[in-house]
Amino acid sequence: MGLRTPEEYREGLRDGREVWVRGERVDDVTLHPGIGIAIDHGANAFELAFDDVTRDLATCKINGELSSRYFAPLDTLEAVKTRSRLIEEHTRRARGSLNLIKAVGTDAYAALRSTSFAVDRSEGTEYGERVAAFYAECACADKSVVLAQTDVKGDRSLAPHAQPDPDMHVRIVERRSDGIVVDGAKAHTTMTPVADELVVLPTRAMSEADADYAVAFAIPPATEGLRMICGPLPEPGSTFDRPVSTRNVEIETLTVFDRVFVPWDRVFLAGEHQYAATLATTFATYHRFTAVSYKLPMIELLLGCATLIAELNGVGRASHIREKLARIVQYLELLRSCVQTAAASAVTVEGGWYLPNPVYTNVGKLHFAQDFHTIVQYVQDIAGGFAITAPWEADLLSSDTGPWVRKYMQGAAGSDAELRLRLFNLIRDLTASDYGGYNLVVTLHGEGSLQAQLLQTLRDTDLGPALLAVADAMDVELPSVSTQPTSPLPIVR
Ligand SMILES: Cc1cc2nc3c(=O)[nH]c(=O)nc-3n(C[C@H](O)[C@H](O)[C@H](O)COP(=O)(O)OP(=O)(O)OC[C@H]3O[C@@H](n4cnc5c(N)ncnc54)[C@H](O)[C@@H]3O)c2cc1C
Repeated sequence: MGLRTPEEYREGLRDGREVWVRGERVDDVTLHPGIGIAIDHGANAFELAFDDVTRDLATCKINGELSSRYFAPLDTLEAVKTRSRLIEEHTRRARGSLNLIKAVGTDAYAALRSTSFAVDRSEGTEYGERVAAFYAECACADKSVVLAQTDVKGDRSLAPHAQPDPDMHVRIVERRSDGIVVDGAKAHTTMTPVADELVVLPTRAMSEADADYAVAFAIPPATEGLRMICGPLPEPGSTFDRPVSTRNVEIETLTVFDRVFVPWDRVFLAGEHQYAATLATTFATYHRFTAVSYKLPMIELLLGCATLIAELNGVGRASHIREKLARIVQYLELLRSCVQTAAASAVTVEGGWYLPNPVYTNVGKLHFAQDFHTIVQYVQDIAGGFAITAPWEADLLSSDTGPWVRKYMQGAAGSDAELRLRLFNLIRDLTASDYGGYNLVVTLHGEGSLQAQLLQTLRDTDLGPALLAVADAMDVELPSVSTQPTSPLPIVR
């Protein structure tokens, strides 16, 4: 097959999958207005391959067949760089809104690939072959693949086996000759109701007592016992009023596994608890590289909003406004340099693929996550209160209110009142609407919380040169201390 059209993607979602919205079962996701927005957003990932402008970036030959570049092997530094450009461009065309329907599953594949080399070598298992067969199936059929890693976790201070309710992390409850049966639930699973495959990975390090929780597998969303309970959904409406949130929004589910059967050929880890941390951290690193790549277009969009509204408000030359614009530029370009450095200094992992440099990936991810709220603050500060109180399109179109709106929405001399109104609506949509709130929280928590990124930078850093500098400065020899990185990544050193 090779490449699917957006229409074929949409059609593939009519398979009886069990999706719930506000307590009611959705019979056909393609007919649901809110889920339909997520489907249109997901369809963008397929459109890229047929668009004259993006075709070359979005496609490549895999086994001689024209395929989505999302499935391209990461076996050269150039491939890592191109993947980043693809994710960035994809997001730009989705109005800065993250669009993971092809990225997150292929991040998971890359992590499963390298980890399974390590597991198979030590444990004599055959996960590598299964992972490769799954990947070939997805690449050939051009499937959208999403990822459930984050368990609901119950009491965060307790390990999976120590929770009062044993289902707080997804676990194996039965091993059969033909496969495994799993129970539990994953949280915040992006785009599950509108994807073709769901990959499940462990969320953390596991001890022997947690062996049943050390489980990874893939299933189609229509698998019996898989229940997807949607969180808040986008609502259709005027693209003047809400330019992004009516068109480009991802959706998440509480994803319940109620005695879900997984055949062995789709099981990629089943009890080898020593590798749960490797798999979890390797996926997190690939996925954070996706994150640093997809964040650039949103920041560019916010920078553009701030620059234009400053001009339309007549404050574009004010020194404190220029300073805030400069700070947004600093934030953007520092992030871009992390993305480029992470790609250029990617490291080799088991199996020969590249992993974006984990230190620069995590430095970049932490940088954008911890300061994004401040960037939004600058944009809102520059925009003024109309960022939340500006009238709607209907007020402009009304013969009663339209003339007043046009008169009083004027800004600096010569500015276009309608343009200014549209821009306030865009700023509201991006920063101060339900979607704006979503943007703030997903920036903070998506791809793992701040602490996870902070600690991983330390765990991936060789502290030897720093200690050597101390020894040199004091003209002494230091006692031998272990300085090597301690993260469990399957890096070939
Ligand atoms: C919009 C959105 C989309 C997402 N999409 C996906 C997806 O597609 N797939 C997926 O698998 N996940 C997804 N995630 C999940 C994301 O990775 C998690 O939200 C993130 O890892 C934080 O986990 P949590 O939400 O359970 O918060 P928590 O883990 O409860 O974190 C809250 C706070 O508690 C702290 N904390 C947690 N545990 C401990 C501990 N043991 N000791 C000390 N402090 C602790 C954290 O550092 C943080 O400060 C998504 C999240 C969001 C918001």
